Amino acid sequence: MEDQIRISDLEIYSNHGVYKEEKVLGQKFLVSAVLYTDTKRAGVSDRIEYSVDYGNVCHRIAEVMEKNTFDLIECAAETIAKTLLLEFPLIRHLEIEVKKPWAPIGMPIESVAVKIFRGWHRAYLGVGSNMGDRMEYISSAIDRIEEQQDTKVVHVSGLIETKPYGGVEQEDFLNGCIAIDTLKDPLELLDFLMDVEKQSGRVRTVRWGPRTLDLDILMYDDLVMNERELTIPHKEMHKRMFVLEPLAEIAPYLMHPLLRKTISELKETIEKE
Ligand code: ATP
Ligand code: CA
Ligand code: CA
Repeated sequence: MEDQIRISDLEIYSNHGVYKEEKVLGQKFLVSAVLYTDTKRAGVSDRIEYSVDYGNVCHRIAEVMEKNTFDLIECAAETIAKTLLLEFPLIRHLEIEVKKPWAPIGMPIESVAVKIFRGWHRAYLGVGSNMGDRMEYISSAIDRIEEQQDTKVVHVSGLIETKPYGGVEQEDFLNGCIAIDTLKDPLELLDFLMDVEKQSGRVRTVRWGPRTLDLDILMYDDLVMNERELTIPHKEMHKRMFVLEPLAEIAPYLMHPLLRKTISELKETIEKE
């Protein structure tokens, strides 16, 4: 069980709703938050700088509600969640509930509410390049990722030189791995990474062919998913030394959620083959 700081029914008068009258006249909203954060250090030291100042949190929630006019309480909740996660680094996850007790539906109702759960996700990415200035393509991709407000680069492995994979005649690769913390969900992350690839001038011709930049999602928390455009963990990661070697450097004890082996163990397995 994680520690929590709980804020219940913070009352804010503001202007959200689909109807014009709601935007002009305004109404009462009640915002609740559960902040998941480790309070132990603050608990033993009795010092506010080791905790999340809930007074500041309440003021930020009020500002987001008062300075914006949203159609939907979904958008109000989303904006509050993102603001708090970006501005209070000790909050890893949170729940936000926005209640609308006077929702104009023409019937008596106690309230309607939207409640969301949001947080930081740890993902591991594979990076590769085998055209032009490979080092430059990789390091500017890492810069582009770091520039995103909702994504932080946490670890960067060394780069290794590798022979191409898949039988197409082409130059050697430079490969590495990075760890990121991100607020993006997996498909948003994939879209963003494909944009970064495009900006590096990558064109897709043959599968496993030469490329200025390749960014693959290797893992995302302990998520397992298999959809048309995205499979996590990456389908081939456990078979590829050019993934396991740099990944073992930054995350040797990371557990593959399907194979139930650590990255070091997976690497040893293919070393023996
Ligand atoms: P490989 O995926 O075997 O390393 P590749 O990187 O050369 O091959 P791409 O042409 O870059 O393949 O990508 C093909 C498609 O793979 C992408 O359009 C994307 O939708 C899909 N894909 C599926 N799972 C992933 C993942 N985990 N990370 C990145 N792309 C993925
Ligand atoms: Ca790849
Ligand atoms: Ca790819």
